[in-house]
Amino acid sequence: MKKVIVIGSGFSGLAAATDLAEKGYDVTILEKNDSAGGRARVFKESGFTFDMGPSWYWMPDVFENYFGKFGRKPEDYYKLVRLNPSYSVILEGNETIKLPSNLEELGNLFESIETGSRENLYKFLDQAGYKYEVGIKKFVWKPSRSITEFLSLKLLYDVIRLDVFQSFHTHIRKFFRNEKILKLMEFPILFLGAIPQNTPAMYSLMNYAEIKLGTWYPMGGMHEIVKGMVSLAKEKGVKITFNQNVRKIEVLKDKAHRVITDTDTFDADVVIASADYHHVDSVLLDKTLQNYDQKYWDSRVMAPSSLLFYLGINKRIPKLEHHNLFFDEDFTLHAHEIYTEPEWPEKPLFYISAPSKTDPEVAPEGCENLFLLIPVAPGLEDNDEIRETYYNILMDRLEKYCGISIRDSVIFKRSYAHKDFSSDYNAFKGNAYGLANTLRQTALLKPSLKNKKVKNLYYTGQLTVPGPGVPPSLISGLVVASEVEKEFPIS
Ligand SMILES: Cc1cc2nc3c(=O)[nH]c(=O)nc-3n(C[C@H](O)[C@H](O)[C@H](O)COP(=O)(O)OP(=O)(O)OC[C@H]3O[C@@H](n4cnc5c(N)ncnc54)[C@H](O)[C@@H]3O)c2cc1C
Repeated sequence: MKKVIVIGSGFSGLAAATDLAEKGYDVTILEKNDSAGGRARVFKESGFTFDMGPSWYWMPDVFENYFGKFGRKPEDYYKLVRLNPSYSVILEGNETIKLPSNLEELGNLFESIETGSRENLYKFLDQAGYKYEVGIKKFVWKPSRSITEFLSLKLLYDVIRLDVFQSFHTHIRKFFRNEKILKLMEFPILFLGAIPQNTPAMYSLMNYAEIKLGTWYPMGGMHEIVKGMVSLAKEKGVKITFNQNVRKIEVLKDKAHRVITDTDTFDADVVIASADYHHVDSVLLDKTLQNYDQKYWDSRVMAPSSLLFYLGINKRIPKLEHHNLFFDEDFTLHAHEIYTEPEWPEKPLFYISAPSKTDPEVAPEGCENLFLLIPVAPGLEDNDEIRETYYNILMDRLEKYCGISIRDSVIFKRSYAHKDFSSDYNAFKGNAYGLANTLRQTALLKPSLKNKKVKNLYYTGQLTVPGPGVPPSLISGLVVASEVEKEFPIS
C-alpha cells in the first residue's frame, strides 16, 4: 500500500489525509503539537473553553460538501446555529449597528442609512452570488499549476465576469457612497489579509457568503469542526501522531523517501506538507531543493499577524453580541500601519468574540468568555510590555463602550502574538493567516502546491492555493489529495 506522510494536522492536513485514506492510501499525520487543529486548537482553563484561532463559521456549503464526500453530514459531528444578529459593528462615537441575518431587514437597515442602497444591495449581491458560484465551485478547485487550466473560452468569460482586474475598493463604490455602509461591506475583505484597494473585486463573494449564506456557530466552539474531522479521519484509517516535530524531509534521487522527526523516522512514498510553507521549504529541505528562496519570501505580502487575548470574565457583559467589530478608529490609518509601514498600530481596530452569548458550555454560569483580536503587521517586535500596553488600550475602549468595569472582573487572562505563532506553528514572521490574497498572489501567482525538484513532495494549507481561512484550507487539502491520486495512483 502506498505510504503517505502528512506533516501537520490543521484543516488542510486533515482533509488531505482523510481523502487519501478513503481512496486506499496508508496515511500517517505527524503533528508537532500535542493536539490536532493547528491554528484552530482549543484550550480549557478555569471552566472556560477557548477557541485559539477561528471564530467565524462561514460558507456552510463547503463543510456540507466536505463531510458529504464521505457520506456524512456536519450534524453527525456538531450542531450548527445561525447567529442573529450576524454581528455588531461599533463605529465612531460608539454608534452600534447590528447586522440582521434576514436579508429584507438588512435591506431596510441599508435604506435607512442611504437612500437607494436597498436596491443596490440586491444588485450587488446578484453579482456577488455569481462570483461565489464560479469562485467556490470552480476556481478554488484549480491546483493552479499551469495557465492551461484556465484556457477555455467559458473560463475566460468567467474570469472577466469575476472582476479579477478591478479592486474591491473601486467595485463597492459603484453601489454605495455612505461611509458606514462602505465599512460594513469592506469588513469581510479583511479576512483575506489584504486591504480593499489591493483585493480583486472577485472577493465580493465573501459578502455573498456572509450575507446570503449566513454566519453560523458550531455549539461547543469552532474546535468541534476539528474534532469532527479527526473522528472522520480515524474512521477512514488515518493514523494521527502527536508530539512529532518534523526536522527533515530526506530526499533520494528526486524523491522524498523518509521524514525524520525529533524521535522517529517514517518511510514515505508521498509527502504532503501542511505546515507553514516557508518553514517546510527553508528548514525541512536542503537548500538546493527549496521551491523558493528567502528573497522570494521577503517580497511576499503576508496577511497580518494578530495580538490575541483570551479572557475569562466573572460576570455577563450585556452590551456585547457574539461577534463585535470595533471600527471606531481610523480604518485607513490602521491598514497603513499593517500593510505599508509595518508597525504597531497607534489606534488599533479590534474584534471581540463572546461565544458565551450563544453557548453556555464555553464559560461557567454567569460568566463571559471573551476572545480579543487586534490585526497587526507580521514581523513586529513582540514582548510582554507591548502586549500589556494594548491590553490597556482595548480595556479602556471596551469599558467605555460597555459602560461597566471589566478589568476587575477578569479571572483568567492569556495573551498570544507573533512569538507564539512562530513557536507553535513555525509561522514565517509570526503570521496568523498566511499570505494575503492580493491580485499578484492569487491562483498561479501563489506558492505552488508541488515542489519543482522533489517529484513526490506537495504543499497544502493557507500559504498555497486557494488561500487563507478555514474553508479554503480545507479545500486546499482536497485539491492536493486529488493531485497525489493523479500522479501517484494507488495501483
Ligand atoms: C487568530 C486567528 C483567527 C482566525 N479566524 C478565522 C475565522 O474566523 N474564520 C476562518 O475561516 N478562518 C480564520 N482563521 C484562519 C484559519 O484558522 C486558517 O486559515 C486555517 O486554520 C489554516 O489551516 P492550515 O491547515 O493551513 O494550517 P495550520 O492550522 O497552521 O496547520 C499546520 C499544522 O502544521 C503543524 N506543524 C508546523 N510545523 C511542523 C513540523 N515541523 N512538524 C510537524 N508539524 C508541524 C502545526 O503545528 C499545525 O498544526 C483565523 C486564523 C487565526 C490565527
